[in-house]
Amino acid sequence: MNAPMKPAIRRESMRIAGKRVDTDEVIEVFNPYNNEVVGTVPAGRPEHVREAFARARAYRPTLTRFERQRILQTTAEILRNRKDDFARLITAESGLCWKDSLYEASRAYDVWSFAAQLVIKDDGEIYSCDISPNGKNRKIFTMRTPLLGAISAITPFNHPLNMVSHKLAPAIATNNRIVLKPTELTPLTALALADVLYEAGLPPEMLSVVTGNPRTMGDSMITDPDCDLVTFTGSVRVGKYIAEKAGYRRVVLELGGNDPLIIMADADLDRAALLAVQGATKNSGQRCTAVKRILVVESVADAFVERVLVHAKKLKCGDPMDPSVDVGTVITEAAAQLFERRVQDAVAQGAKVLYGGPRQGALFAPCVVDHIPYKCELVREETFGPVIPIIRVPDQIEEIIRISNSTAFGLSSGVCTNRLDHITKFVNELEVGTVNIWEVPGYRIEMSPFGGIKDSGNGYKEGIVEAMKSYTNVRTWSMPWA
Ligand code: NAD
Repeated sequence: MNAPMKPAIRRESMRIAGKRVDTDEVIEVFNPYNNEVVGTVPAGRPEHVREAFARARAYRPTLTRFERQRILQTTAEILRNRKDDFARLITAESGLCWKDSLYEASRAYDVWSFAAQLVIKDDGEIYSCDISPNGKNRKIFTMRTPLLGAISAITPFNHPLNMVSHKLAPAIATNNRIVLKPTELTPLTALALADVLYEAGLPPEMLSVVTGNPRTMGDSMITDPDCDLVTFTGSVRVGKYIAEKAGYRRVVLELGGNDPLIIMADADLDRAALLAVQGATKNSGQRCTAVKRILVVESVADAFVERVLVHAKKLKCGDPMDPSVDVGTVITEAAAQLFERRVQDAVAQGAKVLYGGPRQGALFAPCVVDHIPYKCELVREETFGPVIPIIRVPDQIEEIIRISNSTAFGLSSGVCTNRLDHITKFVNELEVGTVNIWEVPGYRIEMSPFGGIKDSGNGYKEGIVEAMKSYTNVRTWSMPWA
């Protein structure tokens, strides 16, 4: 492994149809670990967003499937060759530790490579009409076409490379044009990715990256007349705002989560404890599908907690650039302060902190909290950091499912049990998009369907296969078939 080096400060421009565009006002991007400025990006205004959409709308992509495959696979290969450069940038602007950032870069390879492999498969269907006296000797064919207008993509900070990749790769695979607004907290990785795409041969008109925030851009990313679809990943609050503003447009929302890991009495407790600790702390606990509630049945809770402590104490928290560190910072000191306050509030309601602390700036070490009442804020709301929160529950499956379903969220879940009757009941009755038996809620591959229900999402799925569907219109055409 290469030793991480501190990257030079990047004074970045927007990329509007490939052209570099600057503004007088800039937004500074900080390293959450040491508060140093990592770079700056332009504070884009509504007129920049307008120009990006107008340029996108005026361009008609004509890439063949072969050409798209080449661009997607070349992007994957470049990302693999430059994984250290990307990891360095991700760690610098997000505070994610070097190990997490390298993993982020390797996941991105999968996203681009899977899209390259899927693009060569034609997705048309054929319906024969001679199947009923009401039919005729005809056939109806389906084909998927790109959107007439452009896609607006708005992404969060927690996976600076993958969230963006999950929106751009299926858009390019389907010959769409896209205007991306990455989060103002980690925009540098997104801009570096755009340059890789141009280098891989993407016509620049197919991708613009505008930088800024709602204060400088207003609602322009949501209401532009040439925007046909808004795809958003981020918080519930902003997702619901976008849903209200978007009007007569397709809106794909991938929002927050509050995922349970459920440990039943028959579980192998050491295996379950390892999943609990990894699921709660990887990516500094900042995954939409991080383990945010550990529901363990009372009869095995003491033995389980002992094992959780063993695994939690092995984790090294510190300088994110140190290759031996397991948990870097969270995104801002303010976020860490919020988690601290929520832990204190849980303690005031009877919870016990068994391990963790003290907080140093944005460094919030993994923190094991036991005996948490399931209704307190720490576990009712999404706590987007490396808290390992244990809720003891009665050994009655109905009650466990009721508690699990009691939050507003419905993203994913993990279940540790071998009992088939319990497994089928959880799969049927947990109100979530995913149930992983003997895995963390975040387990997936980059092409499998992914997304939540309730406040976690509006039913559209991501993952390359599903995103390619939501980014296209189905056209049917028919002809006589004598
Ligand atoms: P956020 O909602 O604060 O910001 C996300 C993006 O929305 C940013 O680019 C931000 O600039 C933009 N934004 C904010 N206000 C806006 C407005 N009024 N109009 C248009 N854009 C606006 O989210 P975050 O803090 O960056 O990310 C963390 C959240 O994302 C967590 O809740 C996490 O669970 C969620 N998330 C969900 C998934 C999923 O697939 N379900 C994946 C990753 C993250």
